[in-house]
Amino acid sequence: MHRSLLFHAAAVLAAAFAAAPLPAWGVLGHQLVAVSSLADLPPGLAAWFAGREDILRDHASDPDQWKDTDPLERPRHYLECEPYGGPDRVPMDEDAARARLGPDDFQDAGQAPWTILDRVQALAGSFASGDPDQAALDASILSHYVGDLSVPLHTTVNRHGKPTGQHGIHRRWQIGLVERLEAEESWLPEQRPAVLGPRPEAAPWAWLKQGFALVPGLLADDLAAQRADPDDPDGAFGEAYWRAFRQAQEPRAKEQLTLGAQRTAQMILLAWTRAGRPGAPSEGTQAGNPVARSGQAEPHLPLI
Ligand SMILES: [Zn+2]
Repeated sequence: MHRSLLFHAAAVLAAAFAAAPLPAWGVLGHQLVAVSSLADLPPGLAAWFAGREDILRDHASDPDQWKDTDPLERPRHYLECEPYGGPDRVPMDEDAARARLGPDDFQDAGQAPWTILDRVQALAGSFASGDPDQAALDASILSHYVGDLSVPLHTTVNRHGKPTGQHGIHRRWQIGLVERLEAEESWLPEQRPAVLGPRPEAAPWAWLKQGFALVPGLLADDLAAQRADPDDPDGAFGEAYWRAFRQAQEPRAKEQLTLGAQRTAQMILLAWTRAGRPGAPSEGTQAGNPVARSGQAEPHLPLI
């Protein structure tokens, strides 16, 4: 079942990408995270989404569009650790965080971890009410915020490179890298079964620490790549830059996309657990149905 689901996920993505030119990584990356997360779910939970992969794919970037009409939406996509004194000092309690920074700075610093937990709760409600279409939509929206928090630059005030004079770094990392990766390799995130863990509600704060720790290396690799060939006729961001930046950061981008999918699956699993692990309505499965899982990573599957 896992294998067939993953093949289906690959087919859904292949169809999506064959139909139109590659969209910006923002869209492509979020689609990869959303659809690939389904392959990381245990079978009794994955059954909820069987045949609904297109819902996961098609709505994975909806929250980015909400920024156009909702002034409170943009900061839901990141959390800047520096105003709190670093990722270890970001309170898990939202009211405590607001009190720490004051309401205005709290708003500016971002709310991604709490947004993720709000979306988990919404998904739990859809599981509890037995609505698989709404669950698929909720899971897709959830995947967006988890994917964003898996981008290292979404954990820092230096998201756009202004403080260090690296304008465009956000786009180079999360769009430029993955477009090149996808264009040449038709790559998919690795399958890694979701693990609920002892304190899944704290997971987004652990992700903050992991992502924030990657920022200095990412910025240093960007500067080094800009110096790769000062005589490059294409300028600072020509072929020499991309060769060097890909060599340094492409493995990290792959890992963060894989983690984004696995983390999304973890949050879907958390929501399902909160709802009492109900069986998928259309399949008639029972809660806690002990379907065997391989626990083995699937081989790399190309998109086409
Ligand atoms: Zn976003």
